[in-house]
Amino acid sequence: MVGETVIIAGAGIGGLTTALSCQKIGRRVRVFERAPELGEIGAGIMLTPNAVRCLEYLGLGDALSAAAVEPTESIYRKFDTSEVLMRAGIKDKMRETYGAGYYLIHRADLHSILMQAVQANDAEAICPGFGVSDADQNESGVDVHFENGESVAGNLLIGCDGIHSAVRGKLFGKSNPQYTGQSAWRGMVPVEGLPESVLEPGTISWIGEDKHVIQYAVRQGRLINYVAIVALEDWAEEGWNRPAPVEEVVAEFAGWHADVLQLLSATPPDNCYKWGLFVRESLKSWTVGRVTLLGDAAHPTLPFAAQGSAMAIEDAVILGRALASYDDAEAALKVYESTRLARTTWLVEHARQATKLYQRVQGNKSQQRASSVDEIYSYDAIQCPLGASS
Ligand SMILES: Cc1cc2nc3c(=O)[nH]c(=O)nc-3n(C[C@H](O)[C@H](O)[C@H](O)COP(=O)(O)OP(=O)(O)OC[C@H]3O[C@@H](n4cnc5c(N)ncnc54)[C@H](O)[C@@H]3O)c2cc1C
Repeated sequence: MVGETVIIAGAGIGGLTTALSCQKIGRRVRVFERAPELGEIGAGIMLTPNAVRCLEYLGLGDALSAAAVEPTESIYRKFDTSEVLMRAGIKDKMRETYGAGYYLIHRADLHSILMQAVQANDAEAICPGFGVSDADQNESGVDVHFENGESVAGNLLIGCDGIHSAVRGKLFGKSNPQYTGQSAWRGMVPVEGLPESVLEPGTISWIGEDKHVIQYAVRQGRLINYVAIVALEDWAEEGWNRPAPVEEVVAEFAGWHADVLQLLSATPPDNCYKWGLFVRESLKSWTVGRVTLLGDAAHPTLPFAAQGSAMAIEDAVILGRALASYDDAEAALKVYESTRLARTTWLVEHARQATKLYQRVQGNKSQQRASSVDEIYSYDAIQCPLGASS
Protein backbone atom coordinates (compact mmCIF):
# COMPACT_ATOMS: atom_id res chain seq x y z
CA MET A 1 0.00 0.00 0.00
CA VAL A 2 1.42 3.38 -0.99
CA GLY A 3 2.11 5.63 2.05
CA GLU A 4 0.49 8.70 0.46
CA THR A 5 -2.87 6.98 0.15
CA VAL A 6 -5.94 8.48 1.81
CA ILE A 7 -7.59 5.61 3.68
CA ILE A 8 -11.37 5.84 4.06
CA ALA A 9 -13.31 3.66 6.51
CA GLY A 10 -16.83 2.96 5.19
CA ALA A 11 -18.26 2.94 1.66
CA GLY A 12 -21.55 4.67 2.47
CA ILE A 13 -22.64 7.95 0.88
CA GLY A 14 -20.02 9.92 2.87
CA GLY A 15 -17.13 7.53 2.22
CA LEU A 16 -17.73 7.28 -1.54
CA THR A 17 -18.24 11.04 -1.97
CA THR A 18 -15.01 11.60 -0.04
CA ALA A 19 -13.22 9.14 -2.31
CA LEU A 20 -14.43 11.05 -5.37
CA SER A 21 -13.53 14.41 -3.89
CA CYS A 22 -9.98 13.19 -3.12
CA GLN A 23 -9.63 11.64 -6.59
CA LYS A 24 -10.69 14.97 -8.10
CA ILE A 25 -7.57 16.59 -6.60
CA GLY A 26 -5.33 13.72 -7.74
CA ARG A 27 -5.12 11.77 -4.48
CA ARG A 28 -5.00 7.98 -4.40
CA VAL A 29 -7.72 6.52 -2.16
CA ARG A 30 -8.65 3.15 -0.70
CA VAL A 31 -12.14 2.75 0.74
CA PHE A 32 -12.49 -0.14 3.21
CA GLU A 33 -16.06 -1.31 3.79
CA ARG A 34 -17.10 -3.79 6.45
CA ALA A 35 -19.94 -5.32 4.41
CA PRO A 36 -18.76 -8.26 2.28
CA GLU A 37 -20.53 -6.85 -0.75
CA LEU A 38 -22.11 -3.55 -1.74
CA GLY A 39 -25.73 -4.25 -2.51
CA GLU A 40 -29.10 -2.58 -2.83
CA ILE A 41 -29.74 -1.22 0.66
CA GLY A 42 -31.78 1.70 1.95
CA ALA A 43 -34.80 3.63 0.83
CA GLY A 44 -35.40 7.16 -0.42
CA ILE A 45 -33.06 10.09 0.17
CA MET A 46 -33.86 13.76 -0.39
CA LEU A 47 -31.01 15.62 -2.08
CA THR A 48 -31.48 19.32 -1.41
CA PRO A 49 -29.72 22.04 -3.50
CA ASN A 50 -26.75 22.30 -1.09
CA ALA A 51 -26.01 18.60 -1.76
CA VAL A 52 -26.88 18.62 -5.47
CA ARG A 53 -24.48 21.55 -6.01
CA CYS A 54 -21.65 19.40 -4.56
CA LEU A 55 -22.52 16.32 -6.60
CA GLU A 56 -22.66 18.40 -9.80
CA TYR A 57 -19.21 19.84 -8.92
CA LEU A 58 -17.96 16.24 -8.65
CA GLY A 59 -19.21 15.52 -12.18
CA LEU A 60 -22.37 13.59 -11.34
CA GLY A 61 -25.01 16.03 -12.63
CA ASP A 62 -26.12 13.97 -15.64
CA ALA A 63 -26.18 10.67 -13.77
CA LEU A 64 -28.24 12.25 -11.00
CA SER A 65 -30.82 13.84 -13.24
CA ALA A 66 -31.23 10.53 -15.11
CA ALA A 67 -31.76 8.48 -11.93
CA ALA A 68 -33.66 10.85 -9.66
CA VAL A 69 -37.10 12.42 -9.52
CA GLU A 70 -37.35 16.22 -9.42
CA PRO A 71 -40.51 16.98 -7.40
CA THR A 72 -42.80 19.77 -8.54
CA GLU A 73 -43.98 20.95 -5.14
CA SER A 74 -44.09 20.30 -1.43
CA ILE A 75 -47.54 19.85 0.08
CA TYR A 76 -48.45 19.63 3.78
CA ARG A 77 -51.77 17.91 4.45
CA LYS A 78 -53.83 17.45 7.61
CA PHE A 79 -53.65 13.81 8.69
CA ASP A 80 -57.39 12.99 8.66
CA THR A 81 -59.14 15.34 6.24
CA SER A 82 -56.28 15.78 3.74
CA GLU A 83 -56.85 19.55 3.90
CA VAL A 84 -53.86 21.42 2.43
CA LEU A 85 -52.01 23.25 5.26
CA MET A 86 -49.23 24.58 3.04
CA ARG A 87 -48.17 24.28 -0.59
CA ALA A 88 -44.85 25.50 -2.03
CA GLY A 89 -43.27 25.12 -5.47
CA ILE A 90 -39.97 23.23 -5.64
CA LYS A 91 -38.78 22.43 -9.15
CA ASP A 92 -38.23 25.83 -10.77
CA LYS A 93 -37.96 27.70 -7.49
CA MET A 94 -34.93 25.74 -6.30
CA ARG A 95 -32.91 26.35 -9.44
CA GLU A 96 -33.90 30.02 -9.56
CA THR A 97 -33.19 30.65 -5.88
CA TYR A 98 -30.23 28.38 -5.16
CA GLY A 99 -28.76 27.60 -8.58
CA ALA A 100 -29.14 23.85 -8.11
CA GLY A 101 -31.97 21.35 -8.26
CA TYR A 102 -33.74 19.29 -5.60
CA TYR A 103 -33.86 15.54 -6.17
CA LEU A 104 -35.52 12.49 -4.67
CA ILE A 105 -33.47 9.36 -5.16
CA HIS A 106 -33.28 5.74 -4.02
CA ARG A 107 -30.23 5.47 -1.72
CA ALA A 108 -29.10 2.44 -3.73
CA ASP A 109 -29.14 4.50 -6.97
CA LEU A 110 -27.07 7.31 -5.44
CA HIS A 111 -24.71 4.73 -3.95
CA SER A 112 -24.29 3.01 -7.30
CA ILE A 113 -23.66 6.33 -9.14
CA LEU A 114 -20.93 7.21 -6.62
CA MET A 115 -19.41 3.72 -6.72
CA GLN A 116 -19.20 3.68 -10.51
CA ALA A 117 -17.57 7.13 -10.57
CA VAL A 118 -14.95 6.13 -7.97
CA GLN A 119 -14.19 2.85 -9.75
CA ALA A 120 -13.98 4.55 -13.14
CA ASN A 121 -11.10 6.59 -11.72
CA ASP A 122 -9.48 3.58 -10.05
CA ALA A 123 -10.91 0.07 -10.34
CA GLU A 124 -9.16 -1.06 -7.14
CA ALA A 125 -10.31 1.85 -4.96
CA ILE A 126 -13.14 0.10 -3.08
CA CYS A 127 -12.35 -2.89 -0.86
CA PRO A 128 -15.44 -4.68 0.61
CA GLY A 129 -15.07 -7.14 3.48
CA PHE A 130 -12.66 -4.99 5.52
CA GLY A 131 -14.08 -3.69 8.80
CA VAL A 132 -11.77 -1.16 10.41
CA SER A 133 -11.06 -2.10 14.03
CA ASP A 134 -8.15 0.09 15.11
CA ALA A 135 -5.53 2.60 13.94
CA ASP A 136 -2.10 3.85 15.10
CA GLN A 137 -0.49 7.01 13.85
CA ASN A 138 2.91 8.66 13.91
CA GLU A 139 4.48 11.74 12.29
CA SER A 140 4.62 10.19 8.84
CA GLY A 141 1.40 8.23 8.52
CA VAL A 142 -1.33 5.92 9.83
CA ASP A 143 -1.49 2.15 10.20
CA VAL A 144 -5.06 0.94 9.92
CA HIS A 145 -6.02 -2.48 11.30
CA PHE A 146 -8.96 -4.60 10.22
CA GLU A 147 -11.27 -7.06 11.93
CA ASN A 148 -9.84 -9.84 9.70
CA GLY A 149 -6.35 -9.34 11.17
CA GLU A 150 -4.88 -7.52 8.15
CA SER A 151 -3.39 -3.97 8.23
CA VAL A 152 -2.54 -1.22 5.74
CA ALA A 153 -0.47 1.96 5.89
CA GLY A 154 -1.57 5.33 4.53
CA ASN A 155 -1.15 9.06 4.86
CA LEU A 156 -4.52 9.81 6.48
CA LEU A 157 -7.54 7.95 7.85
CA ILE A 158 -11.01 9.38 7.30
CA GLY A 159 -13.66 7.65 9.43
CA CYS A 160 -16.83 7.55 7.34
CA ASP A 161 -18.14 4.51 9.17
CA GLY A 162 -21.55 5.77 10.19
CA ILE A 163 -23.46 6.10 13.47
CA HIS A 164 -21.66 3.23 15.20
CA SER A 165 -18.25 4.44 14.02
CA ALA A 166 -15.31 2.35 15.19
CA VAL A 167 -12.96 5.23 14.29
CA ARG A 168 -14.89 7.64 16.53
CA GLY A 169 -14.78 5.01 19.30
CA LYS A 170 -11.02 4.73 18.90
CA LEU A 171 -10.52 8.53 19.05
CA PHE A 172 -13.12 9.56 21.62
CA GLY A 173 -14.41 6.44 23.37
CA LYS A 174 -17.85 4.90 23.26
CA SER A 175 -20.77 7.31 22.75
CA ASN A 176 -23.94 7.02 24.77
CA PRO A 177 -26.93 7.35 22.42
CA GLN A 178 -30.18 8.55 24.00
CA TYR A 179 -33.58 7.50 22.67
CA THR A 180 -35.57 10.56 21.54
CA GLY A 181 -39.00 9.10 22.20
CA GLN A 182 -39.58 8.85 18.44
CA SER A 183 -39.50 5.78 16.21
CA ALA A 184 -39.85 5.52 12.46
CA TRP A 185 -40.99 3.09 9.81
CA ARG A 186 -39.93 3.23 6.22
CA GLY A 187 -41.19 1.40 3.17
CA MET A 188 -41.03 1.36 -0.63
CA VAL A 189 -44.31 0.70 -2.41
CA PRO A 190 -44.64 -0.12 -6.14
CA VAL A 191 -47.13 2.30 -7.74
CA GLU A 192 -49.09 -0.42 -9.56
CA GLY A 193 -52.44 -0.82 -7.82
CA LEU A 194 -52.22 2.44 -5.85
CA PRO A 195 -55.09 4.88 -6.49
CA GLU A 196 -54.33 8.10 -8.44
CA SER A 197 -54.92 10.24 -5.34
CA VAL A 198 -51.86 8.67 -3.66
CA LEU A 199 -49.59 9.50 -6.60
CA GLU A 200 -49.25 13.28 -6.29
CA PRO A 201 -46.09 14.50 -8.04
CA GLY A 202 -44.32 16.10 -5.12
CA THR A 203 -43.29 15.52 -1.54
CA ILE A 204 -46.35 15.06 0.63
CA SER A 205 -46.09 15.57 4.40
CA TRP A 206 -49.10 14.32 6.37
CA ILE A 207 -49.18 16.17 9.68
CA GLY A 208 -50.79 14.78 12.83
CA GLU A 209 -50.36 15.26 16.57
CA ASP A 210 -47.12 13.49 17.56
CA LYS A 211 -47.04 11.67 14.23
CA HIS A 212 -46.22 12.48 10.64
CA VAL A 213 -45.72 10.69 7.34
CA ILE A 214 -43.63 11.91 4.42
CA GLN A 215 -44.08 10.29 1.02
CA TYR A 216 -42.46 10.84 -2.36
CA ALA A 217 -41.68 9.00 -5.57
CA VAL A 218 -38.28 7.56 -6.56
CA ARG A 219 -37.04 5.44 -9.54
CA GLN A 220 -38.72 7.60 -12.23
CA GLY A 221 -41.97 7.43 -10.27
CA ARG A 222 -42.13 3.61 -10.13
CA LEU A 223 -41.87 3.41 -6.32
CA ILE A 224 -43.33 5.54 -3.53
CA ASN A 225 -41.00 5.91 -0.58
CA TYR A 226 -42.44 6.77 2.81
CA VAL A 227 -41.15 7.50 6.28
CA ALA A 228 -43.71 7.40 9.10
CA ILE A 229 -42.58 8.87 12.41
CA VAL A 230 -44.37 8.36 15.70
CA ALA A 231 -43.80 9.38 19.33
CA LEU A 232 -43.42 6.00 21.08
CA GLU A 233 -42.33 5.16 24.60
CA ASP A 234 -41.01 1.74 23.63
CA TRP A 235 -37.97 2.09 21.49
CA ALA A 236 -36.90 0.13 18.45
CA GLU A 237 -33.19 -0.45 18.07
CA GLU A 238 -31.03 2.03 16.18
CA GLY A 239 -30.14 0.95 12.65
CA TRP A 240 -31.45 0.80 9.12
CA ASN A 241 -32.22 -2.85 8.55
CA ARG A 242 -34.64 -4.07 11.20
CA PRO A 243 -37.66 -5.59 9.40
CA ALA A 244 -41.10 -4.83 10.84
CA PRO A 245 -44.57 -6.26 10.13
CA VAL A 246 -46.65 -4.03 7.81
CA GLU A 247 -49.68 -4.49 10.13
CA GLU A 248 -47.79 -2.66 12.89
CA VAL A 249 -47.39 0.59 10.96
CA VAL A 250 -50.96 0.37 9.59
CA ALA A 251 -52.33 -0.04 13.15
CA GLU A 252 -50.25 2.90 14.38
CA PHE A 253 -51.97 5.18 11.82
CA ALA A 254 -55.55 4.00 12.40
CA GLY A 255 -57.95 6.91 11.83
CA TRP A 256 -55.70 8.66 9.29
CA HIS A 257 -56.85 9.57 5.80
CA ALA A 258 -57.58 6.69 3.39
CA ASP A 259 -54.70 7.75 1.08
CA VAL A 260 -52.18 7.27 3.90
CA LEU A 261 -53.65 3.94 4.94
CA GLN A 262 -53.75 2.64 1.37
CA LEU A 263 -50.10 3.52 0.91
CA LEU A 264 -48.97 1.93 4.18
CA SER A 265 -51.09 -1.19 3.63
CA ALA A 266 -49.59 -1.74 0.18
CA THR A 267 -46.02 -2.06 1.56
CA PRO A 268 -44.50 -5.35 0.39
CA PRO A 269 -43.88 -7.52 3.50
CA ASP A 270 -40.12 -7.63 2.86
CA ASN A 271 -39.86 -3.84 2.49
CA CYS A 272 -41.07 -2.50 5.82
CA TYR A 273 -38.43 -1.43 8.34
CA LYS A 274 -38.55 0.20 11.76
CA TRP A 275 -35.90 2.05 13.71
CA GLY A 276 -35.59 4.14 16.84
CA LEU A 277 -34.33 7.72 16.61
CA PHE A 278 -31.40 8.36 18.93
CA VAL A 279 -29.26 11.41 19.65
CA ARG A 280 -25.67 11.68 20.84
CA GLU A 281 -23.87 14.58 22.39
CA SER A 282 -22.19 16.61 19.63
CA LEU A 283 -18.40 16.32 19.48
CA LYS A 284 -16.50 19.58 20.09
CA SER A 285 -13.73 18.33 17.82
CA TRP A 286 -13.41 15.23 15.68
CA THR A 287 -9.83 15.26 14.44
CA VAL A 288 -6.72 13.85 16.10
CA GLY A 289 -3.54 14.29 14.05
CA ARG A 290 -3.93 12.33 10.82
CA VAL A 291 -7.29 10.82 11.65
CA THR A 292 -10.64 12.56 11.28
CA LEU A 293 -14.34 11.75 11.05
CA LEU A 294 -16.91 12.59 8.38
CA GLY A 295 -20.68 12.30 7.91
CA ASP A 296 -22.70 10.40 10.52
CA ALA A 297 -19.51 9.26 12.27
CA ALA A 298 -18.76 12.93 13.10
CA HIS A 299 -22.24 14.43 13.53
CA PRO A 300 -25.13 11.95 13.45
CA THR A 301 -28.33 13.84 12.64
CA LEU A 302 -32.01 13.11 13.12
CA PRO A 303 -33.96 12.77 9.85
CA PHE A 304 -36.30 15.76 10.42
CA ALA A 305 -34.27 18.18 8.30
CA ALA A 306 -33.47 15.49 5.64
CA GLN A 307 -29.80 16.48 5.82
CA GLY A 308 -27.89 13.33 6.91
CA SER A 309 -26.58 12.59 3.43
CA ALA A 310 -26.27 16.26 2.47
CA MET A 311 -24.00 17.01 5.45
CA ALA A 312 -21.75 14.06 4.55
CA ILE A 313 -21.61 15.25 0.94
CA GLU A 314 -20.74 18.83 1.96
CA ASP A 315 -18.06 17.47 4.35
CA ALA A 316 -16.51 15.50 1.50
CA VAL A 317 -16.20 18.53 -0.78
CA ILE A 318 -14.68 20.68 1.98
CA LEU A 319 -12.22 17.91 2.88
CA GLY A 320 -11.07 17.66 -0.75
CA ARG A 321 -10.62 21.45 -0.93
CA ALA A 322 -8.65 21.50 2.34
CA LEU A 323 -6.34 18.70 1.16
CA ALA A 324 -5.76 20.57 -2.11
CA SER A 325 -4.92 23.79 -0.26
CA TYR A 326 -2.58 22.53 2.48
CA ASP A 327 0.48 20.33 1.94
CA ASP A 328 0.63 19.49 5.61
CA ALA A 329 -1.86 16.66 6.19
CA GLU A 330 -2.63 17.49 9.81
CA ALA A 331 -3.18 21.17 8.99
CA ALA A 332 -5.56 20.20 6.18
CA LEU A 333 -7.66 18.04 8.51
CA LYS A 334 -7.84 20.81 11.11
CA VAL A 335 -9.00 23.29 8.46
CA TYR A 336 -11.59 20.80 7.22
CA GLU A 337 -12.91 20.41 10.76
CA SER A 338 -12.98 24.12 11.57
CA THR A 339 -14.84 24.84 8.32
CA ARG A 340 -17.50 22.26 9.14
CA LEU A 341 -17.92 22.31 12.90
CA ALA A 342 -20.28 25.28 13.34
CA ARG A 343 -22.57 24.37 10.43
CA THR A 344 -22.95 20.70 11.34
CA THR A 345 -23.44 21.45 15.06
CA TRP A 346 -26.15 23.97 14.17
CA LEU A 347 -27.78 21.52 11.78
CA VAL A 348 -27.83 18.67 14.32
CA GLU A 349 -29.59 20.96 16.82
CA HIS A 350 -31.93 22.30 14.13
CA ALA A 351 -32.96 18.73 13.20
CA ARG A 352 -33.69 18.02 16.89
CA GLN A 353 -35.96 21.06 17.08
CA ALA A 354 -37.56 20.44 13.67
CA THR A 355 -39.78 17.70 15.02
CA LYS A 356 -41.94 20.51 16.43
CA LEU A 357 -42.34 21.95 12.93
CA TYR A 358 -43.77 18.68 11.66
CA GLN A 359 -45.88 17.19 14.41
CA ARG A 360 -48.33 20.01 15.15
CA VAL A 361 -51.47 20.54 13.14
CA GLN A 362 -52.21 23.87 14.83
CA GLY A 363 -50.09 26.98 14.38
CA ASN A 364 -48.37 28.30 11.33
CA LYS A 365 -44.72 27.26 11.40
CA SER A 366 -44.16 27.81 7.70
CA GLN A 367 -42.29 31.11 8.15
CA GLN A 368 -39.90 29.56 10.66
CA ARG A 369 -39.37 26.58 8.37
CA ALA A 370 -38.72 28.80 5.34
CA SER A 371 -35.90 30.74 7.03
CA SER A 372 -34.09 27.60 8.21
CA VAL A 373 -34.51 26.03 4.77
CA ASP A 374 -32.85 29.08 3.23
CA GLU A 375 -29.89 28.79 5.58
CA ILE A 376 -29.51 25.09 4.76
CA TYR A 377 -29.96 25.22 0.99
CA SER A 378 -27.90 28.33 0.24
CA TYR A 379 -24.64 26.92 1.72
CA ASP A 380 -22.02 26.63 -1.00
CA ALA A 381 -19.33 24.08 -0.07
CA ILE A 382 -17.48 24.81 -3.32
CA GLN A 383 -17.04 28.56 -2.78
CA CYS A 384 -17.20 29.15 0.98
CA PRO A 385 -13.98 30.27 2.64
CA LEU A 386 -11.95 27.48 4.23
CA GLY A 387 -11.30 27.66 7.94
CA ALA A 388 -14.15 30.09 8.52
CA SER A 389 -16.90 29.12 10.91
CA SER A 390 -19.38 28.72 8.08
C1 LIG B 1 -27.83 0.32 5.21
C2 LIG B 1 -28.17 1.76 5.30
C3 LIG B 1 -29.40 2.19 4.82
C4 LIG B 1 -29.75 3.55 4.91
N1 LIG B 1 -30.96 3.95 4.44
C5 LIG B 1 -31.29 5.27 4.46
C6 LIG B 1 -32.53 5.71 3.95
O1 LIG B 1 -33.33 4.94 3.48
N2 LIG B 1 -32.83 7.06 3.98
C7 LIG B 1 -31.96 7.95 4.53
O2 LIG B 1 -32.24 9.15 4.55
N3 LIG B 1 -30.77 7.56 5.04
C8 LIG B 1 -30.41 6.23 5.02
N4 LIG B 1 -29.22 5.82 5.54
C9 LIG B 1 -28.37 6.79 6.21
C10 LIG B 1 -27.71 7.71 5.30
O3 LIG B 1 -27.12 7.02 4.22
C11 LIG B 1 -26.68 8.44 6.13
O4 LIG B 1 -27.30 9.09 7.22
C12 LIG B 1 -25.97 9.52 5.36
O5 LIG B 1 -25.87 9.19 4.02
C13 LIG B 1 -24.58 9.78 5.93
O6 LIG B 1 -23.74 8.81 5.37
P1 LIG B 1 -22.47 8.20 6.02
O7 LIG B 1 -21.60 7.78 4.90
O8 LIG B 1 -21.91 9.11 7.04
O9 LIG B 1 -22.98 6.93 6.82
P2 LIG B 1 -23.62 5.59 6.25
O10 LIG B 1 -24.39 5.84 5.01
O11 LIG B 1 -24.29 4.96 7.42
O12 LIG B 1 -22.36 4.70 5.82
C14 LIG B 1 -21.46 4.12 6.73
C15 LIG B 1 -20.77 2.95 6.03
O13 LIG B 1 -19.70 2.46 6.87
C16 LIG B 1 -19.74 1.06 6.92
N5 LIG B 1 -19.08 0.66 8.16
C17 LIG B 1 -19.58 0.69 9.42
N6 LIG B 1 -18.63 0.33 10.31
C18 LIG B 1 -17.49 0.08 9.59
C19 LIG B 1 -16.17 -0.28 9.94
N7 LIG B 1 -15.81 -0.49 11.22
N8 LIG B 1 -15.26 -0.43 8.95
C20 LIG B 1 -15.60 -0.21 7.64
N9 LIG B 1 -16.85 0.13 7.26
C21 LIG B 1 -17.77 0.29 8.22
C22 LIG B 1 -21.23 0.75 6.85
O14 LIG B 1 -21.44 -0.58 6.43
C23 LIG B 1 -21.70 1.77 5.81
O15 LIG B 1 -21.53 1.31 4.50
C24 LIG B 1 -28.84 4.48 5.49
C25 LIG B 1 -27.60 4.04 5.97
C26 LIG B 1 -27.25 2.69 5.87
C27 LIG B 1 -25.89 2.23 6.37
